[in-house]
Amino acid sequence: MAPTCPVCEEAAIPYVTKNTFAFWRSPSCGLLFVWPFLKTAPQEIYEEDYFAGAKGGFGYADYDADKAVLEGFFKKFLKRLETWLPPKGRLLDVGAATGHFVGLAQAAGWQAEGIDISSHSVALGKAKGLKMERATLGDLSAPAASFDALTLWDVIEHVPDPLAALDRCETLLRAGGLLVINTPDAGSGWARFMGKRWHALVPPEHVCLFTQRALERVLRARGFEIVHAEHPIKFFTLPYIASTFARWVGWKLPGAIKKILAWRIFSLVGIPLPLRDNLLIVAKKTEK
Ligand SMILES: [Zn+2]
Repeated sequence: MAPTCPVCEEAAIPYVTKNTFAFWRSPSCGLLFVWPFLKTAPQEIYEEDYFAGAKGGFGYADYDADKAVLEGFFKKFLKRLETWLPPKGRLLDVGAATGHFVGLAQAAGWQAEGIDISSHSVALGKAKGLKMERATLGDLSAPAASFDALTLWDVIEHVPDPLAALDRCETLLRAGGLLVINTPDAGSGWARFMGKRWHALVPPEHVCLFTQRALERVLRARGFEIVHAEHPIKFFTLPYIASTFARWVGWKLPGAIKKILAWRIFSLVGIPLPLRDNLLIVAKKTEK
């Protein structure tokens, strides 16, 4: 029996099976999703190995270094966020990992805090003096309308029930507050060109890949107004690119190459990848 698309409720068609998980595609809105749905996020893959070393083949070569090359992008983005949402208020970064963005937002004058599913990364964030909590959107105990801004950097594609997560975002934001989502775009030219070999098709890490049309539709259905959408050029470190590429073609990187990639110089240099296959959306919760 074929599943129906959780966004538009049309019958989905089988797309590709990876790591024993089946992706299905919605012919009308383009959503790619793993079905049967996962009941919970596979938390064990997000513990220590995910953020450093990537031993099991998942995650990041060195999470902090990979985010550091995005610092310029994040700083510029925080400036723009101010123009959409004066004055600066309380910001929650969801899936904050070790708190890199939380730290930058705090330095830019926001009352910033972060949550993450990984107790390991939350501990690292706390050690940096940041306000961090081990929680998901589902189990966070904040009251409704607690936040002026919510940011989800490369998070929504990991969440087993993204629509419930967006419902929760709507509840947590005050009216007029901003929701920022960055996620791989299944409708981008690169994603369509690569088809079933697109590097974002990595279950069980990624279980739901939106198109711009599908994401805007679910946001509007929840009372959000789209205030900005773009496909930014992302910067990556060479170790990140190498480990992603190796996983994509199914290679195990030899120890000697891993050793070279661990040289500090590689974690300081960001390489721009103009694939434009990730979507950045800023949506405003409308006043009721
Ligand atoms: Zn659909």
